[in-house]
Amino acid sequence: MSRLLIIGCGGVAQVAIKKCCQNSGVFTEICIASRTKEKCDRVKEEVDGWTKTKVTTARVDADKKEEVVSLIGSYKPDAVLNVALPYQDLTIMDACVECKVSYIDTANYEAEDTNDPAWRKIYEERCKRLGFSAYFDYSWQWAYEERFKEAGITALLGSGFDPGVTSVFSAYALKHYFDEIETIDILDCNGGDHGYPFATNFNPEINLREVSAPGSYWEDGKWIEIEPMSIKREYDFKEVGMKDMYLLHHEEIESLAKNIPGVKRIRFFMTFGQSYLTHMKCLENVGMLSTEPVEFEGRQIVPIQFLKRLLPDPATLGERTVGKTNIGCIFTGKKDGKEKTLYIYNVCDHQECYKEVGSQAISYTTGVPAMIGAMMLVTGTWKGAGVFNIEEFDPDPYMEALNQWGLPWVVEENPVLVD
Ligand code: NDP
Repeated sequence: MSRLLIIGCGGVAQVAIKKCCQNSGVFTEICIASRTKEKCDRVKEEVDGWTKTKVTTARVDADKKEEVVSLIGSYKPDAVLNVALPYQDLTIMDACVECKVSYIDTANYEAEDTNDPAWRKIYEERCKRLGFSAYFDYSWQWAYEERFKEAGITALLGSGFDPGVTSVFSAYALKHYFDEIETIDILDCNGGDHGYPFATNFNPEINLREVSAPGSYWEDGKWIEIEPMSIKREYDFKEVGMKDMYLLHHEEIESLAKNIPGVKRIRFFMTFGQSYLTHMKCLENVGMLSTEPVEFEGRQIVPIQFLKRLLPDPATLGERTVGKTNIGCIFTGKKDGKEKTLYIYNVCDHQECYKEVGSQAISYTTGVPAMIGAMMLVTGTWKGAGVFNIEEFDPDPYMEALNQWGLPWVVEENPVLVD
């Protein structure tokens, strides 16, 4: 019996909402609140026919803490699931502290206005201190530790697939298979085809900013940053086949480096086809990925936001996307003094996801873990006052829930390693 406030109603949120509605024994009531209330109403209409969960909707601008506080005050949820954008993480966390309600998200804080001088000063200092230049990092949210502790509430950071499930795979590997993990390679393969010349599988602004940024990995206690897309490997993914993949910076590297004791190297690879990369390079070269506003016919336009307007809405890709994703982690390390290697991964079929919830697998593989993270907190399975990355909790109940709620995983011994 619980009441969940879900903020955001995009691709990921719509899967999380439908999964909560399937899990109506736990989520007896949910409120879907977003900037565009009509979207929330449409999803409510879709689920009302079949779910026992009582669904209500609301309009909220989550950039404004007062609006979130007022909504929490009137709805009185047991927890808030933030599946809006990383830009809203801090305002929603502030509201949760004020109202003493637990918080779950799927992506770490990113500043929307990267030209804000106050933000830039902190950012530039961090780039120097830590050695990676991504616009997002955990320091902003980890800084809430004392406030969450004092309020006696939990913040569960990063309950998507990556970060999220990949981080839980790491905790599970450490708990059951290794005495010491030496390296982690996170491999994110999307073998799906939506038939468009170019589209992104989740929010284009967030996605393109991530992919066009310098890559980086963690080795021997420090970050090594590389030119964007300059480390390429090939890998033969189970149920997908041979794919090119590129080393990217990714947020879970930062938390795993802190939470997996003694880990020596963590890398993240994502697959991209040549056509995607050619389109992206071209858009970048002409300035369409820029977040700097430009003046056009008397109006200020942010190029990447205009591009988002032109690209297909990721939430509409489901019907056309065929193929599978394969996302997981390859671990090397030691057990009982012997060298050991292990691969834990999930394969997810785009069309199966579409049949079940009307979404493609990228939204599905993020929305299901978002629901599971919320379930871990509202059922009291995971407890603790403070700010936690997902790998800090016992992975077993989460791994069980993945099998139960549509993301079964495979453990493979002695996999092919990435050089
Ligand atoms: P979408 O752009 O599809 O959806 C974002 C939603 O947030 C929209 O409904 C939007 O409203 C709403 N929103 C935006 N700004 C505000 C605001 N100020 N107040 C209230 N609502 C707002 O994004 P996705 O669903 O693709 O992604 C959602 C989150 O999931 C992102 O943080 C993304 O980074 C994360 N993610 C995490 C992954 C993981 O594996 N960990 C993988 C993929 C995504 P409107 O409809 O009005 O635009």
